[in-house]
Amino acid sequence: PLVPRVQLNDGNSIPQLGFGVFKVDPKQTERIVAEALEVGYRHIDTARIYGNEAGVGRAIAESGIPREQLFVTTKLWNDDQGTQSVFDAFDRSLERLGLDHVDLYLIHWPTPANDRYVETWRAFEQLRASGRTRSIGVSNFLVPHLERLLAETETVPAVDQIELHPYHQQPATAAFAEEHRIAIEAWGPLGQGKYPLLELPEVTDAAGAHGVTPAQVVIRWHLQRGHIVFPKSNRPERMAENFDVFGFELDEAEMDAITGLEREGRVSSHPDAVN
Ligand code: NAD
Repeated sequence: PLVPRVQLNDGNSIPQLGFGVFKVDPKQTERIVAEALEVGYRHIDTARIYGNEAGVGRAIAESGIPREQLFVTTKLWNDDQGTQSVFDAFDRSLERLGLDHVDLYLIHWPTPANDRYVETWRAFEQLRASGRTRSIGVSNFLVPHLERLLAETETVPAVDQIELHPYHQQPATAAFAEEHRIAIEAWGPLGQGKYPLLELPEVTDAAGAHGVTPAQVVIRWHLQRGHIVFPKSNRPERMAENFDVFGFELDEAEMDAITGLEREGRVSSHPDAVN
């Protein structure tokens, strides 16, 4: 299927559906990413802290897929925030990936207690100017963190990658992002399997009506809300299932029923508490 692209505020675009590799074993990553590329994924979301950038890079190199057809994101870990430490960490990520540029580089967490994300963002602006990352964005930034970046720097982040699934929809951050043309990337789109999202009647009824699986319904809900998503799976049959979401459409009542599941059920720590 042809994956739609989302236009970013910097003129670039990103495939709306990708493949995430959080908790993918570094020893298995090359094989698993190769399988994802085989299924058809062209957007891979990794991070330095996942420890598997090298495996992602090997899978890309072996695939023979032209670089311009791929969209690769990686992220700066918290202890590398600053200025020179950002440039060094970025160089090491590129080396591990075996690439001369990434498509998107993200500040992984704001870590407000360290008070370095504004300085870090200025370093990100320089990286973008160098062309070695095409776009720059943030992750786990809430409205106060975004407001500070907008007030104190020149560049509006292209994306904010936040925990977002039917139980935790972050309406305040999502509304702020929409107002400032910051695209929302939904991490943990299936709730990381920590909630019975795939067993709820709001999800299973829609799955039955369309002859699809509950996971496909939840991914479809994200896509119709405009989110960028990259569900993770180690299993080729699930990778294929999660990619096969363009042959049906949820109607307004089905969308509303899933949106109605919101209950501030986060799977991770509050971003202000992560250091
Ligand atoms: P996810 O919501 O994608 O859940 C993944 C889990 O859901 C799998 O391990 C599997 O158990 C289950 N699953 C997947 N496909 C399924 C299917 N078809 N049917 C039934 N169960 C299925 O959670 P995630 O991996 O944490 O999030 C996706 C990506 O988001 C990550 O891989 C990573 O790239 C990114 N992420 C970013 C941050 C951040 O702080 N920026 C944090 C977590 C994840």
